[in-house]
This record gives sequence, C-alpha cells and structure tokens, in this order.
Amino acid sequence: MGVRKTGHKSKKRGKAEGRTCEKPRASACDPCPASLHFVTESSLPTLAPGDVLLLDDALAARQSIEPSFFAVLSCPLCGTPRLITVAEFFGGAPVLCAAEDCSGLYRIVEQNHFEYLPVN
Ligand SMILES: [Zn+2]
Repeated sequence: MGVRKTGHKSKKRGKAEGRTCEKPRASACDPCPASLHFVTESSLPTLAPGDVLLLDDALAARQSIEPSFFAVLSCPLCGTPRLITVAEFFGGAPVLCAAEDCSGLYRIVEQNHFEYLPVN
C-alpha cells in the first residue's frame, strides 16, 4: 500500500504574479498625496508625507537653518523630510528626495500640489 504524503510542507514558491522587478520604489503611500499640507512648527517631529513647514512660520527652526532654505518638506512618497529652497517651493526647480531608497522626483505647482515627474 503505502500512501505517501509528499510535498506536505512545501512552500508556495515560484509564484511570479507578473512581478517585474524593475526599479524598487520605496513609496509608503498609494496613492501618494497630491496636495501640500501646511503644518505648524509643533508638527515638525511628526511630519507626514506631503507635509510642509514654512520656515518663516517656524522661528525656532529658522534660526538654525540657512537663509537660502524656504521650507521643510516631507517627501510625499516616503516621508523623509528635507529642506527646500525658494526655487523648489515655487516650482522653479524640481525636488529630488534625499532618501537613498526613494526615487521621488516631483515639482511643487502653484504652492499647493505636487506634480510627480518620471524618473529615468
Ligand atoms: Zn522620498
């Protein structure tokens, strides 16, 4: 006789599910926020993706930051905060995320929403 149970503990592997490993994106949001969300200085430690703190509104932070920077922007893709310049805030220059594992590239349009740019 001998009923053999084989493959009882075999893991389900090799299920591709049509995944094409192109560029792994570290975006924590889906969909990512389309609009800037202006916050006050008290929110600085807990910035969420897309949050913006204008340095002119943050006196304590302003003093320790170079005058060429205009705001703190939390990357809308991964939430990593970075300083942005006047040009970046007003759409004159694209913003590139500072995080290594994030390919976030976007532009701020009309000081109120993000335009995501294709990353080549
Ligand atoms: Zn990012």
